[in-house]
Amino acid sequence: MKKSLTKASIVLLCLGIISCKDSNKTTAVTTENAMVEVAQEPIKSILTAEEQANMSPDEIIGRLKKGNENFVSNNLTRRDHSEQRRKATIGQYPKAIVLSCVDSRVPVEDVFDLGIGDIFVARVAGNIENKDIVGSMEFATAVAGSKVVIVMGHTACGAVKHAIDNTDAASMKMNALADLLDEIKPSVKATETNGEVSSKNVAYTNAVIHNNAKQTVEDIRSRSPKMAELEADGQIKIVPAVYDMETGKVDFLR
Ligand SMILES: [Zn+2]
Repeated sequence: MKKSLTKASIVLLCLGIISCKDSNKTTAVTTENAMVEVAQEPIKSILTAEEQANMSPDEIIGRLKKGNENFVSNNLTRRDHSEQRRKATIGQYPKAIVLSCVDSRVPVEDVFDLGIGDIFVARVAGNIENKDIVGSMEFATAVAGSKVVIVMGHTACGAVKHAIDNTDAASMKMNALADLLDEIKPSVKATETNGEVSSKNVAYTNAVIHNNAKQTVEDIRSRSPKMAELEADGQIKIVPAVYDMETGKVDFLR
């Protein structure tokens, strides 16, 4: 299914003479064991209703993991965005919804090697849930047929760091940010450490980031009886994950 340059390349082991032709001339190159990569056509199709219906939640998670491997190895799939954009006007059948932090260093589609029509993406600092986010997830799953919900935190998350450090955003007239940080604080309280409770404590901060993603998953289940029901029936899966900023790898916490 994947059509990226490397995987889709045809590797020719050539002994002898390879003729390389351009518009003006033919050049003969003598070589042994030369590797010639022929780029495959970019993906032009988008996910169909049938493809969406035929994938189980576990298959989708497997594809997301594989896509992440492509991202980690700098081997993203080529896509014809113009063609995909035209095809996408008829409708959408995304396989998953990802809730991510707003952080500019977490390019969600790229992280999973996905493009137009593949996934819904919801973003809010600290990847917490709220009524509107869960409403969007209910639409993605119960209405639009997505079968996987990923809550994806990330290392070095500024929102989590400020929650840990108890930054007083309200005193700087940022009342909404103060409310948002309050949403993360239960995960700070729930995370134990023998060391310093500070964002300078990287191991502790990472533990809070993991717990925050897990807590958001629990909050989604309790806020949405419909999604909890779909998950209990095996129709969807709601999974916490953490993106490692340094390696690009997504750790699925399940
Ligand atoms: Zn963040």
